[in-house]
Amino acid sequence: MKRKGEKEKERGEKIIEAAVCPFCACLCDDVVISISVAENKIKEIRNACTFGVKKFLSAEKTERRIKTPRIDGKETSYEVAIEKAVSILREAKKPLIYGMSNIGCNAQRVALEIAKLKKGVCDISESICHNFLYQELRKGEYPFYYALLDEIRDNANVIVYWGSNPIRSHPRHLSKFSLYPVGRYAMKGVMDRELITIDLVDSELKKISRWFLQVDPGTGGDAKIAEIMKQLVKKETNNGELRELVKDTAAIDFDTIVKITDRLKKAFYGVIFVGLGIFSSENALRNVKAIFALVEALNKEGVKFVMFPMKGHFNVMGAVQLLLRETGYPFGVDFSRNRIFEPGKTTVLDVIKRKEVDAALIVGADPFSSFPKDTVRKLCDIPIIIIDPFESPTAQFSTVVFPAAIAGVEAEEIAYRMDGLPLKLEKILNCDYPSDREILERLLESL
Ligand code: SF4
Repeated sequence: MKRKGEKEKERGEKIIEAAVCPFCACLCDDVVISISVAENKIKEIRNACTFGVKKFLSAEKTERRIKTPRIDGKETSYEVAIEKAVSILREAKKPLIYGMSNIGCNAQRVALEIAKLKKGVCDISESICHNFLYQELRKGEYPFYYALLDEIRDNANVIVYWGSNPIRSHPRHLSKFSLYPVGRYAMKGVMDRELITIDLVDSELKKISRWFLQVDPGTGGDAKIAEIMKQLVKKETNNGELRELVKDTAAIDFDTIVKITDRLKKAFYGVIFVGLGIFSSENALRNVKAIFALVEALNKEGVKFVMFPMKGHFNVMGAVQLLLRETGYPFGVDFSRNRIFEPGKTTVLDVIKRKEVDAALIVGADPFSSFPKDTVRKLCDIPIIIIDPFESPTAQFSTVVFPAAIAGVEAEEIAYRMDGLPLKLEKILNCDYPSDREILERLLESL
């Protein structure tokens, strides 16, 4: 009798049983992919969400791929493009190396080496998305109320999503790590857990939440709510006095805040997943401080609670861990200075704004789509080298463009899940493009 693997071989099929999805920082590691070896094509994908399926199939979407290397918009060979990129980096007094959240750890290591060698600035998307979080953590005022996703899945019975809608951003987060899975202390999965959502917008999460609180930014927003909750937890002010304090602010739903806080206080183990709604508001620093203080107050009252930032790009944690390990800082390091890390001085938007960098090497990012317009205009004044599998506005305006294999689909790599767990990304399909790591290594060698 033939074994399963042998039968697949006969049919020219290969099945990968536990592929890791390289789209978001959940890095779901239970994706089953069936491949036709002869056609070098994916035949079937199971367990991935639509984002994941699209990412795996993106290898075949040839209209979105960068086909050949380009210099000033003209097609060329990798050799000539390498020469041009090296000459740009050689001439640069202080280049910017930016992106890195959408590439594997091996490529990130080489990109960092280039930044060190050239005494340039190395920054990642965290500098824009989560900078206030790190600033607060670095102060060391709060103990590190944090846990791995497996611990949260095993223990948490009260789940709060604050300024985050995983249905839109991380579709399998609810089923793999928070609300739905069975855990050691949540044997009946969703039946043993309660979901609370606090958000500016009336999201889809409302339908499955036990409590939903809509934030009105005009009333002090998320920070105000967290501050009221903290006072209720610490019993610093009684409910009557607190109600009196907010009575003129009709938009604050005080009764729901009291009910939610009661639920937080009765949790066996709780988690607040904090999203970009908190970090990207103009009140970001106050929001982060207030939610940290609430988590601290709950823990001091004997309620185990953790705060967990929702990370977006699939390997942003790999970049953070690398930078922390190699430099002691999580993002925005400038190797030309003695004090290499000073948010507001060494971070990407600031060095571009002050015209301190004279060339840019962008890997796995599209700053033209995400940076403010005036920063993009300044970026246009310097030569840009981009390494990316896909066309993007940044690629359109770059001096040198390198097409690369897609990490986790066409190239093997390592990535860190949003809680810092390292996972191996498989090479699923063959392709003619070199990986980001190979292109970066060639640049480093020539430099
Ligand atoms: Fe991929 Fe994220 Fe969807 Fe998981 S949740 S399958 S990692 S896109």
